[in-house]
Amino acid sequence: MLKKFALTVLITSVLIISTGWGFLVHKTVHQLAVYELPEAMLPFFYQQMDYLVTHAPRPDMRRNEDSTEATKHFIDLEMFGERAATKMPLDWNRAVQKYTADSLLKYGYVPYHIIYMKGKLTEAFRQGNKDSILFYAADLGHYIGDAHVPLHTTVNYDGQLTDQKGLHSLWESMIPELEIGNYSLYSTHKATYLKKPAEAIWQAVRKAAGLVPDMLLKEKEVSKGFTEEQKFRVQIRRGKETKSYTTAFAKAYAEALGTTINDQLRSSANLIADFWYTSWVDAGKPDLSRINTGWSAGTQLKLAAELKTFHENKLLENKLLLSKKAEVKAGE
Ligand SMILES: [Zn+2]
Repeated sequence: MLKKFALTVLITSVLIISTGWGFLVHKTVHQLAVYELPEAMLPFFYQQMDYLVTHAPRPDMRRNEDSTEATKHFIDLEMFGERAATKMPLDWNRAVQKYTADSLLKYGYVPYHIIYMKGKLTEAFRQGNKDSILFYAADLGHYIGDAHVPLHTTVNYDGQLTDQKGLHSLWESMIPELEIGNYSLYSTHKATYLKKPAEAIWQAVRKAAGLVPDMLLKEKEVSKGFTEEQKFRVQIRRGKETKSYTTAFAKAYAEALGTTINDQLRSSANLIADFWYTSWVDAGKPDLSRINTGWSAGTQLKLAAELKTFHENKLLENKLLLSKKAEVKAGE
C-alpha cells in the first residue's frame, strides 16, 4: 500500500515536469518507429525495444538536474520575429549569427538540437558502439516527438496567455491516455532516407505551429457547452489548489479535434524512423548483426507475429503495446 502511494506521488510529480508528449506517447512512438525500420536495422532495434521505450521520456527527467536541458525540447517561435517558422535558418551557426546563441538557448532550439543529436547517433553507428547507439537513438526520438507537439512551438505554451492554462497536458497527456484505444497506431510508412534532415524537422515544426490557432479556438468553442464546474476539477495537492480539465471536457475537446492528436502521434513515429534510418545510412550502413546479441529463430518468429499485429492495429488489444504494459505493471 505504502509502495503504491509512493509510486503515485512519483508518477504525479514526474507528470508535472513532463513537457512534450506525455510518457505514454513518447514511449508508444518509439515502439512504432521500430516497426518501420528496414530489414537491416529491424532485428537490432527490435531486440532493444524495451530500452528504447523505457528511456523515451529520459530527456524530460534530465530537466530536474540540468538547467540547460529545458530549452532543447521546444522553440518559442514568436520570440524570433514574424513568420519565424519559415524564416529561421536551417543551420545552427547561421541561426546564431542572426539571433545570437543566448536567444536560442533562452527561447528554445529543438530543431537545431535534433540535428545535433542526429550527428551524435550517426557517429555512434560509425563506431559500432551499441550503448551509444541506443542512448542517442532514444534521446533523438524524444526530441523529434516534442517537435510535433503544437504547444512546443509557441510562447503560449500552456494556453496561459489566452486564459486556457492547462491546455498543454490536456493535449499531450490526458487525451492520449483516454483515447489511445481508439487511435490507429498503424502506419504504412517505411523509414525513408532524409536528404535534408534539417528541412524535414522544420517541416514538422511548421506543421505543429500551424495547428496552434485551431487547438486554442476549439478549446474556446467546446467550453461554451460547459459550466466552470463541469469543465474543471479542483484538487488540493500538497496544500496547493490545482485546477485540471475534467474527463468529460477532455472527451468533448478530443472529439472536436478529430484525428489531430492521432495524426501527430503517427507523424512523430514516422519521422523518428526516418531519422534513425538516415543516421545509419550516413554512417555507411554498418552491419548491426555484429552487435545484436541473442538473436534466434524464436525471436524472428515473435517479431513476424508482432509486425502482423502492428499491421492490423491490434497492438493494444493483443497486449503488445509496451507503454501500456509498463503502466499495468506499475498499477499492480
Ligand atoms: Zn520533452
